[in-house]
Amino acid sequence: MTTTFNAAELALPGIRELQPYQAGKPIEELERELGLSGIVKLASNENPLGVSPLVQAALNVAVKGLARYPDANGFYLKQSLAEKFAVNADQITLGNGSNDVLELLARTYVQPQHEVIFSQHAFVVYPLVTKAIGATPVAVPARDYGHDLDAMAAAVTDKTRMIFIANPNNPTGTFLSSAELEAFLQKIPNQVLVVLDEAYYEYVPAAERAPSMQWITRFPNLVVSRTFSKAYGLAGLRAGFAVSHPQVADLMNRIRQPFNMNHLALTAALTALEDEKFLAESIEVNSAGMRQLIDFCDRHGLTYIPSHGNFLTIEVGPEAGAIYQKLLEMGVIVRPVAGYELPNHLRVSIGLADENDAFCHAMEKILA
Ligand SMILES: *Cc1c(COP(=O)(O)O)cnc(C)c1O
Repeated sequence: MTTTFNAAELALPGIRELQPYQAGKPIEELERELGLSGIVKLASNENPLGVSPLVQAALNVAVKGLARYPDANGFYLKQSLAEKFAVNADQITLGNGSNDVLELLARTYVQPQHEVIFSQHAFVVYPLVTKAIGATPVAVPARDYGHDLDAMAAAVTDKTRMIFIANPNNPTGTFLSSAELEAFLQKIPNQVLVVLDEAYYEYVPAAERAPSMQWITRFPNLVVSRTFSKAYGLAGLRAGFAVSHPQVADLMNRIRQPFNMNHLALTAALTALEDEKFLAESIEVNSAGMRQLIDFCDRHGLTYIPSHGNFLTIEVGPEAGAIYQKLLEMGVIVRPVAGYELPNHLRVSIGLADENDAFCHAMEKILA
């Protein structure tokens, strides 16, 4: 018997419509394509200092344990996180990157008849996990490139089950104050889960950070996600976590893959939490690099979106795509953000001083 095989027709409708996630171009790929070396990658908001020496040492030891399955419950990491953030270990869900916990949340709570709210220009993973379930994404127009919390609260209907908020947001770097967030949470009914994605939390000055995890006792529908991919410098390992009401964590724990955080990631994350010196240096390098890029923009009359993250999204005009290509040819990888409805902007991750210089010099040549 021969029948035609239509893979797309058989798949879930929400998945058929998805576009694959566009990651920053890997250095090796550009090297292969152009035969260049000394490429500078400022495209994925990675930590330019690399991996903390303490973490490297711990990993060298941990490698010897790779024949065994990892601790499925991440006991020591959860203990350490609980202590550091003054929460209970039973409120924590570990993830293979925080993207994993964002997906687990959607799969635990969102059904096809539900709506999921997020902001225009917000992180692409929110519509992705929503559509994968077959639920309805509701993108609320941004205000000044950031979340319009009043409009987002007004968009809540009987069908709304989840709201994603990135603070600071990627790719715009916009930031919501503690007072704004708290007022928003007061307006949202308990049957709507509010997921506060704080991937760039460590870059926010301590005085401006929201006590988000402490709010969970007052707002049991709040879930906070964090990552080791940015300031902690572990993007390649995949380590993130959520803090929630213990019942939310219990449910997420039932559907996660039993060993979703691997042995090296558990070890590295635990050690990274202890290396406060490296974290402080990372934040320092970021502040200096941010000033460097802002000075460059100011000198050349380029507008940018003021950023609270480890990147700056710069308005370069309708030629953004061509400028991105020219930068590639000059060995500098940045991130086009047309897919985020920002066709005139490029997102530039903050690098080391000489990497930022490489971007500035290449831009100067292009602008001339
Ligand atoms: C980078 C980023 C993350 C982190 O993703 P991981 O899966 O932890 O690497 C999460 N949310 C936003 C908004 C980000 O920009």
